[in-house]
Amino acid sequence: MSSTFRAIPSVEAVLGELRGNGSWPHALAVDAARTAITRAREAVAAGSDAPDLATISAEAETILTELARPSLRRLVNASGVILQTNLGRAPLSERAMAAMGEAARDYTNLEFDLDEGARGSRHEHVRDLLRRTTGAEDGLAVNNNAAALLMVLQVFARGREVIVSRGEAVEIGGRFRIPDVLRESGARLVEVGTTNRTYVEDYANAITGETAAILRVHRSNFQVTGFTARPELGELAALAREHDVLLLDDLGSGCLVETADYGVEHEPTVRESLAGGADLTLFSGDKLLGGPQCGLITGRGELVAAMRRHPLARALRVDKLAIAALNATLMAYVAGTEREEIPVWRMLALKREQLEPRARAWAEAAGDGGRVVESQTMIGGGAAPGTGQPTWCAALRAERGAEWLAGALREADPPIVARVEAGELLLDPRTVAESDDEHVATAIGVLLAGGASGASQS
Ligand SMILES: *Cc1c(COP(=O)(O)O)cnc(C)c1O
Repeated sequence: MSSTFRAIPSVEAVLGELRGNGSWPHALAVDAARTAITRAREAVAAGSDAPDLATISAEAETILTELARPSLRRLVNASGVILQTNLGRAPLSERAMAAMGEAARDYTNLEFDLDEGARGSRHEHVRDLLRRTTGAEDGLAVNNNAAALLMVLQVFARGREVIVSRGEAVEIGGRFRIPDVLRESGARLVEVGTTNRTYVEDYANAITGETAAILRVHRSNFQVTGFTARPELGELAALAREHDVLLLDDLGSGCLVETADYGVEHEPTVRESLAGGADLTLFSGDKLLGGPQCGLITGRGELVAAMRRHPLARALRVDKLAIAALNATLMAYVAGTEREEIPVWRMLALKREQLEPRARAWAEAAGDGGRVVESQTMIGGGAAPGTGQPTWCAALRAERGAEWLAGALREADPPIVARVEAGELLLDPRTVAESDDEHVATAIGVLLAGGASGASQS
């Protein structure tokens, strides 16, 4: 036993090998060598033969390579959910990426007025485009929609009451709960109605001298069906005007175009919300808008101006990269090219016939374990909950089970994320760039058909 331990090479010996393979900082190399040696000792203690120098050095090399790999990595989303918070939500358009790259590389006029040669405002860069794309009098971008809601409530309702329907006092995901945000803002929540039914009278009866606002919240991640009632926005707008309180509309996804044109259930648009009488309409930049993470506040001029002057505008401000990407994204809507330019809409516009051959190629790469099935792509991001876009998926079975296969595909480089449904692994081509099709087929082939060659022939 002890002689086996003595056979394990020294840190010096492992370092000697590592030095031949690139130049790692000494402290990191020593650390990796020690870790690899500790693992070798553990293996010996468990009854194995001592690994040789080459094996331990290779282990140390792997440790160093993993260390150097960025923590945030690109991956292939074959899950069939277009907007997933866990996967970074909306991929950006080429135009947005180019704008970000340019703003990142150089100095910019972020807060510099080029006409006057004097200090300017970062908020100026988004106002005009937000006005054009939503019909709002004015608009402001902050860190995200949660920040937008927090800020609106703090500026206009702190120490006062905000009326919310019980059916809308929801948790959106990632522990984001409307009642919690209200409490954090210093506003007092007044819940009205019931989970499934709330009427205009419920709101009307709750209005007091303490009421600052009525808050409407898009339910986003669930549906209430059957015996339900919810007032039209216009009815609430009339009530709010009559009593001189604000009507705030948290739209969540912030859609700027008609989703029905893509064959998906109608999603309320920002323009509809504002035209319907909301004083302020809030939405995310990285959901259906298809832009960078940010929260947009649009609506009445004097309200937005008051927010811009508030100290929170400084604390929650967006950086130059987000502004660059947001402007480029909004420009696509102004130009009417969002269907071609913005990945979210490009994916939704793909025809089922275009997807079938791609799903088939993946199914064939799996050999006997694969077939194509009809399925649904989900929008995600809180839009059109419960409905999807018809698609074709590759459905794969593996002897070791669908969860094993899902795990093995996550180890591909780049990782591939799929979903398990009824014991099968489903891969949806709608959310995968065509340039990644070959990578997916190869990974499937290696895992299920015993080699890359089988995959690339299909
Ligand atoms: C997603 C969502 C939010 C949170 O938006 P973030 O941009 O993630 O902060 C708030 N409200 C609703 C209704 C949502 O759907």
